[in-house]
Amino acid sequence: MKRRIIDSHAHLGDIFHENKNITFKTNIKKGSYEDPFIECERSGYNIPLIPKDPTDLINAGQSRSWEWTLENCSREMDEAGIDFAVMLPIWPNTTFEEYLAASKLDPRIIPFTSADFSLDTAELAAKLRLDIDRGAKGLKLHPTIQNMPLDDPKTVAAVRVFTEADLPVITHTGSNPYYVPGSPWPTNPANSEPAKIWAFCRAHPDTKIICAHCGGSGEAFIKAVGDLKNVYTDTTMCNRVNMQNAVSLLGPERLLFGSDVPFGSFKPSVEEMELAFADRPDIADMCFYSNMARLIHMD
Ligand SMILES: [Zn+2]
Repeated sequence: MKRRIIDSHAHLGDIFHENKNITFKTNIKKGSYEDPFIECERSGYNIPLIPKDPTDLINAGQSRSWEWTLENCSREMDEAGIDFAVMLPIWPNTTFEEYLAASKLDPRIIPFTSADFSLDTAELAAKLRLDIDRGAKGLKLHPTIQNMPLDDPKTVAAVRVFTEADLPVITHTGSNPYYVPGSPWPTNPANSEPAKIWAFCRAHPDTKIICAHCGGSGEAFIKAVGDLKNVYTDTTMCNRVNMQNAVSLLGPERLLFGSDVPFGSFKPSVEEMELAFADRPDIADMCFYSNMARLIHMD
């Protein structure tokens, strides 16, 4: 059987706060700058990504997002054999509208949405229902970049919309910084620390929740919420051992392939998962494709 791949965790354009309006630009090439992501990718995500001084990493992440146009993304999808990519906007920097438009230009793109926290709670929920009617297949929460706690009433209202629609909610997991000290942007890494993510999973037992990045911390994640059948994780920035552990402890139906482009890359992410489940083609197909297809009701 031909390998089928849904990347369940991808971004497009500038997810940070500078509003560089990147997605629809053309002929943007990779610049020359210190890029610690490259070494990590080459190692199959086997060397730790977050160094003691994260300045180069943070700057490289921003540079990568400023080069990450739809044109570049589509070409790399071709090269890596990605059938579909779930695109995760982070309001206010990227939006559902941007990703819906991108999906009209490249139908492999599956848009999720992001809550507009500038609205009042009722308006926020109504907007998300409209997004679902227009094709949003899930909700992205980024408590750090959005500076919005997971137990805020607005977050809770947003989650409820997706629980009612039986669509998944994905949250960033892990308290890494996104800006260098002194940046003017509002951010709060503590909003995404593991204990708060675990409490969020327990507070919403009827919601299908994806805790990104192998639960941020691998085994601690599994220990904390592995018993909850509503909880999933993705393979972004994870090596094969993390992936194998997730499957043996959570079961094969709760791990989703993801690259986190433009911070990860499609090709090394695919290669690492191929290696993780080389002797289990049934599990590989579940994690690469059918688990996510089921969550978003793809036929
Ligand atoms: Zn991400």
